[in-house]
Amino acid sequence: MANQDQHTMQDPTTQYPKATPDWKQQQEEPGLQREMTPVPDAGEKSYKGSGRLTGRKAVVTGADSGIGRAAAIAFAREGADVVLAYLPEEEADAKEVVKLIEEAGRKAVAIPGDLKDEKYCEELIESAVKELGGIDILANVAGKQQFVEQIADLTTEQFDATFKTNVYSMFWLCKAAVKHMKAGSSIINTSSIQAYKPSPILLDYATTKAAINTFSKALAQQVGSKGIRVNVVAPGPVWTPLQVVGGQPVEKLADFGSNTPLGRAGQPAEMAPAFVFLASQESSYVSGETLNANGGTVSP
Ligand code: NAD
Ligand code: MG
Repeated sequence: MANQDQHTMQDPTTQYPKATPDWKQQQEEPGLQREMTPVPDAGEKSYKGSGRLTGRKAVVTGADSGIGRAAAIAFAREGADVVLAYLPEEEADAKEVVKLIEEAGRKAVAIPGDLKDEKYCEELIESAVKELGGIDILANVAGKQQFVEQIADLTTEQFDATFKTNVYSMFWLCKAAVKHMKAGSSIINTSSIQAYKPSPILLDYATTKAAINTFSKALAQQVGSKGIRVNVVAPGPVWTPLQVVGGQPVEKLADFGSNTPLGRAGQPAEMAPAFVFLASQESSYVSGETLNANGGTVSP
């Protein structure tokens, strides 16, 4: 389903296919993008760079698949070296991204591990600084989403794991990165439409996404005087592994994204330009902002 590139004018309602009953599928968490049908478009064939991040040093979490993969590919094609964080089980997806970054002529450093572990988060940033010679961009894209119908069935283990993955890792990574960031650096966190329009079955997940928005607004004010900007991308329904590993009930995948004004699911490739904008100097006067890329659903 590769698109032409992110510049060619076209009708956004038909730019990518709508979900069909064939989209119903299930994998074990965390899932592999390469085993999805259709395989999501993370810009592998379509994203065209134009030197907007020349020489930058970036860390992207969840860089193996979905939105993180799209951001990693775009960052590299815009001229950045990239450290990729992901889970060891996702090596097959990550290998493809490493290859694409190298084909773009940039350095790719793969550092798999579990973001629920504070030590790993600290080591990830320290290794990035060592391998790339610094850190100018931190894109926290990794996330956990598991639907549970009733609060009675939502375990403390899941509540804890969702918060550790989505909120604590962001805190630990930002804390470690800010120490090394010089003026002009950018932090981008990943929230969701769920922060404002929570699905009843995503109680824990939606709550973490609201926390990410507020954390980012507070941190943006704290580090603004250092010349570090902090912003958020808030996607709507995007076709990624997250959705087919228990993020949604399988039946809902048949018309995934159809309730948005644009009438279809988004693809990871469509999120990448938002990350590039917030990472680059083009957004020099933008901080504490949430950029909603959700197919047109009204959001605050
Ligand atoms: P994805 O499955 O491709 O990416 C999620 C990634 O998180 C995984 O690839 C994995 O590498 C990483 N991850 C999960 N648990 C981890 C752990 N314990 N340690 C290390 N890494 C871990 O799915 P995606 O949809 O691209 O998700 C990326 C982000 O986008 C998430 O924060 C998600 O909440 C957000 N988001 C997605 C959608 C959507 O519809 N797909 C909508 C709104 C927000
Ligand atoms: Mg993945």
